[in-house]
Amino acid sequence: MFLSWCNYLNYKILLLWHDYCFFKNGMKMQQTIKDAITFSGIGLHTGCRVNVTILPAPEDTGVTFIRKDLPGSPAIKAVASNVVATSYATTLGVNGSTVSTVEHLLAAFYGLGVDNAVVELDGPEAPIMDGSASFFIERIDAVGRKRQTRPRRYIVIKKPIKVFDRDKYVLLLPALDNALTIDYNIDFSHSFIARQSFSRMFSRDVFRHEVGSARTFGFLSDVEMLKANGLAKGGSLDNAIVIGETDILNEEGLRYPDEFVRHKVLDMMGDVSILGYPLIARIVAHRSGHALNYELVKEILQRPNAWELAEEFAMEAPTIPQALVGMGSLALI
Ligand SMILES: [Zn+2]
Repeated sequence: MFLSWCNYLNYKILLLWHDYCFFKNGMKMQQTIKDAITFSGIGLHTGCRVNVTILPAPEDTGVTFIRKDLPGSPAIKAVASNVVATSYATTLGVNGSTVSTVEHLLAAFYGLGVDNAVVELDGPEAPIMDGSASFFIERIDAVGRKRQTRPRRYIVIKKPIKVFDRDKYVLLLPALDNALTIDYNIDFSHSFIARQSFSRMFSRDVFRHEVGSARTFGFLSDVEMLKANGLAKGGSLDNAIVIGETDILNEEGLRYPDEFVRHKVLDMMGDVSILGYPLIARIVAHRSGHALNYELVKEILQRPNAWELAEEFAMEAPTIPQALVGMGSLALI
C-alpha cells in the first residue's frame, strides 16, 4: 500500500514537472475565452449605459468590436490602423463607426493571454466599470481560457526604438529575459501624486495582482473643463480616483500607494495590444500617455527591421508548481 502510494506520488510529480517544463520551454498556443461573458455598465466619457457580450473567436482573428446598435453591425478590429483618437482614452473606428475607452478591456485580454475575442456592444464606449480592469479580469477568469490550435506569435524587439514628446518619452529595448518588462515613471506637479515608479517583468499573475485593479484618475480642477468638452459625463467616485487640492475625494482611499503609476502601466498594456501580437521587450516609459503610446505603436510598425515575429517565447514567467515546493522533489528528478 505504501509503495503504491509512493508510485502514485512519483507519477503526479512527473506530470507536474512535465507541465512546468512545457510552460518554461514549450510553444505557447493562442487562446480565446471558453464561454460568453455578458455585462453592462456606464461609459466614462459618454455617460451612456452599454450592454456588452464577449464571445470566443477563431485563431488569428484578434480582438474585434461589433457595434450591434448601428445598421449592419459594423466590425471594428483592435488594430493600430483603426485608432482614430487618443485624447483621454483610446478610440477605434472604421468608416465613421467608433468604439472608445477600449484600453482597459484590451489590457485585460493582453494581460491574461486572450488573443482572440469578439466584443459586441450596443453603444459607442466600452463600460468603465470601477475604472480598472478588475471586473474584466474576474469575468475572464470565471469562464476560463481555451487553448487553440495555432501558436501565438510575438513581436520580439531586436533594436532600440524611441518616441518622445518634449520631456515625455518611451524607449523600447530588447527583452531582458524573453518576457515583457515595463519600467514606468510619472512625475506630476500635483503633490499628492508627484513622482512614482513601477517596474515589473510581466506574467499573468503580476498583471492580475499588481496592475489590473489600479483605477483611472483625474483632477477635480479638470472636471469642469472635461465636462465642457463633452467628456467624463459618466465619471464618478465609483469609477475614478478624483484628486482634490491636497487629497483624494474617494473615501475608500487608494488600492496601492502608487496606484497612479500602476494605472498608467495598465493603459500602456492596452495601448500596445493593438500591435496584434504580444511584445517581448523592455519598455521604459517616462510621463507617457495614450497619445505617445500610440506613437510608439506606429513607430514599431514602421520599423520592421527592429523586430521579428517569433513563435517560441514563453510570456509566462515559469513558476515551480506549488505541490513540488518544500518536498525536496526537484533534486530527485
Ligand atoms: Zn486608463
